[in-house]
Amino acid sequence: MTECCTPRPRQSEQRCAPEAQAAQQPVARPAKASCPASGDPGKPVEPITLEHLLTAQARMRLLDAPYYFCRGRSCDVVYFTASAESTFTKADLTVPVTQKDPGDSVPVCYCFGHTRASIYDEIRRTGTSTVVADITHRVQAGECACERTNPQGSCCLGNVSQAVKHGLAFFTTVAATR
Ligand SMILES: [Zn+2]
Repeated sequence: MTECCTPRPRQSEQRCAPEAQAAQQPVARPAKASCPASGDPGKPVEPITLEHLLTAQARMRLLDAPYYFCRGRSCDVVYFTASAESTFTKADLTVPVTQKDPGDSVPVCYCFGHTRASIYDEIRRTGTSTVVADITHRVQAGECACERTNPQGSCCLGNVSQAVKHGLAFFTTVAATR
């Protein structure tokens, strides 16, 4: 199951580049930071992501420091600072985190509301998936807001592609054994 957590091809992230670049002022931050709970490598996230996704109570603990996202599947920590003086766990967010919650109702694409269930359902009904094309189209139309909606603070397409791959593998195997 670790393939869901592997770093994604860059081109899927670059689709959201205009928005990402607008928000990414140079911030002095250590090049690398590991999750204090799981040791997973952290992915830098911008303050705007935490400001939008933390609960009101958790937001009061937000420090003026660079934060990182932990994509560790079984780790409760979602955000942490390099020196670990500040961490936020799943309970501090207003949304479930794709990487940390295997539930079918969990969003995979936060901008346009695609869940594992909706992706699997289309594959089960039609044998194929239009979700990547749909998201790509809407991203190109400038409709995405990944930095404010997705806990990882970047484009969801890598996670969506993984869900489609899982769905296709599962449902085509089921069809073949019928
Ligand atoms: Zn972690």
